[in-house]
Amino acid sequence: MKKNIYYSLLISAMVSVSAAEETRQVDKHEHGVGELNIAIEGNAIDFEFFIPGADIVGFEYEAKTESDIALVNAALEKFENFDNIFSLSESSNCNLVNSEIGINQDDDHDDHDDHDEHDEHDDHDNHDDHDEHDDHDEHDDHDEHDEEAHNEFVAHYSFNCGNIKEIDRISFPYFTTFPNSGELEVQFVSEIGSTSFEVEGDEPFIDLKGKI
Ligand SMILES: [Zn+2]
Repeated sequence: MKKNIYYSLLISAMVSVSAAEETRQVDKHEHGVGELNIAIEGNAIDFEFFIPGADIVGFEYEAKTESDIALVNAALEKFENFDNIFSLSESSNCNLVNSEIGINQDDDHDDHDDHDEHDEHDDHDNHDDHDEHDDHDEHDDHDEHDEEAHNEFVAHYSFNCGNIKEIDRISFPYFTTFPNSGELEVQFVSEIGSTSFEVEGDEPFIDLKGKI
């Protein structure tokens, strides 16, 4: 039901990004498939990415260990510079006017408090019962406990362009920046109409000739 609402919002009002985000269900995404909405209006072009954490850092639970947090922060930093994600024809003279980078963590995960307490219990049990077997602690694989958690990286970029019609191609260094990435499902909307593309790393670009 909610999903239907989201899709109808997406189709009827590409620009009302915040409304779409509010009704978005993170756990309904497909690992290996990132979504990108591109909207052109006047001299403005807008990019909005929703990418499963699995495609970016390889996990979707909330990062808590130092190494997981470092992975997430490194990924967010890469998103901060859009050159790592996509590139526009230089002659279009587009300047970034706004960007927002973040993570949507699936709220459902917070309800599993019992689960978390279990994790702590396990640690204690191992400690008490197997004092001699220090190796055993390494088998506490938190990844597996948190299999149900989902999140996505959300990145929103807005540009103003001197010559927006010069954007004849958009390339996606995204695929080399994030080697875990799968495909990108692109929904493109301009005043002329809308087009969808499926983009993969072996042909990392979309052709927009005649579509702007
Ligand atoms: Zn997921």
